[in-house]
Amino acid sequence: MKYKYILFDADDTLFDFRLAEEKVIKKSLDYFNISYVDNIVDNFRKINKELWKKYELGEITKENLQVTRFKRLFETLSVDEDPDNFNDYYLEQLASESILINGAEEICRVLSKKYVLAIVTNGIKSMQEQRFNKSTIKQYISNIFISSDIGYQKPQKEFFKYVFEKLEVNDKNSVLIVGDSLSSDIKGGNNVGIETCWFNRYNFTNDKDVKVTYEIKNLYELINLL
Ligand SMILES: [Mg+2]
Repeated sequence: MKYKYILFDADDTLFDFRLAEEKVIKKSLDYFNISYVDNIVDNFRKINKELWKKYELGEITKENLQVTRFKRLFETLSVDEDPDNFNDYYLEQLASESILINGAEEICRVLSKKYVLAIVTNGIKSMQEQRFNKSTIKQYISNIFISSDIGYQKPQKEFFKYVFEKLEVNDKNSVLIVGDSLSSDIKGGNNVGIETCWFNRYNFTNDKDVKVTYEIKNLYELINLL
């Protein structure tokens, strides 16, 4: 058996963040009496994505990211609402949505018999922990590594070095990372010299300068692959 450790990304790899996000944005708008307009979720995602990219590059802090995304969204809507309060409510609601990706529970259950499973995430600590603790996959996962605890984030080498140390990894060839993001998960794997599995649910093209060892469209494919 080649691998001993499987590192899973959390958002949109084990947890259906996209679905939860859409649900919670609508709920938060409603709570703050902001009218829903078409494309609001898409606009939010666009703004959020740009800011996460900056965060991954170490250009902004996570606190900055969290508030700025709503500040910008409200600007596009000409809405005068406190982005800080809105973000607090949004995160609180998001933390209670532990919607799993199709197959995640079964995959974790099956793989946990043969491998050490860990989560590696750049996500927001309070949200990740709450959601993880109430999820059915918790029992199969040995560790959850959150960037803000470590002080480094994916794709930084230091993030992975910390993870390897904690898991007592002796051989990098025994580690596989599974994730949906080319810029954080796959690039991170490349940076630290481990093999990678790109969870490409939406059939994107690999337009980044990264090396993908395996590519899957759904999580069940991992069973045959490993
Ligand atoms: Mg992800």
